[in-house]
Amino acid sequence: MLTQERIEEIKSQFQGLSQEEQQKKFQEILETLDPEEREQITGKQQCPFCSMAKGEIPVKKIYEDETLLAILDIRPANKGHTLLFPKEHHKVLSTVQEPLVAHMFTTANKISTAIFDAMNAQGTNIHVANGSAAGQTAPHVLINIIPRFTKDKVVIGWEAEKVEDNELEKIAESIRGKIPKEKPKITEKKEMRSVREDFSRIP
Ligand SMILES: [Zn+2]
Repeated sequence: MLTQERIEEIKSQFQGLSQEEQQKKFQEILETLDPEEREQITGKQQCPFCSMAKGEIPVKKIYEDETLLAILDIRPANKGHTLLFPKEHHKVLSTVQEPLVAHMFTTANKISTAIFDAMNAQGTNIHVANGSAAGQTAPHVLINIIPRFTKDKVVIGWEAEKVEDNELEKIAESIRGKIPKEKPKITEKKEMRSVREDFSRIP
């Protein structure tokens, strides 16, 4: 069992580190802890969404597979508001493995389509809040799928800022520079086929 002091001391070790360094450091620290201490640090014990994923809290289930659970929000923005989340504990989307992120959004889109039909929705919002500054209140990453109607009272909005063209260029460059430059994962077979298709289109 970790003391509050020790937890604070561990937290202080992450200050000033990049997200990648933080993750590395976090793994190193986890390896030195026993399972109970690990739960204290990762917050798995206290997370209601992890408990829902384990079936320990009753939910209004919409969808479930090996890795995901979708439930009705009991305090919805509109009726039919659904929460989709990975069964594995993650606070924010950036720590979720890429194939699972892909699976989450494919599933979110299927649920959104079902909500259009079942709730006679005129629109949907598919929304993720990463971090409290973005309005995240849950300790577990969630995709909100909200049915929308032209005269509903849901507010998702912002006042548009004015940014000069040269600043826009600088911002674009800095974001581009942070996107990993790996090639999209595509099998050799698929790649060959698309090359062949390109050739066959040449008259
Ligand atoms: Zn959780």
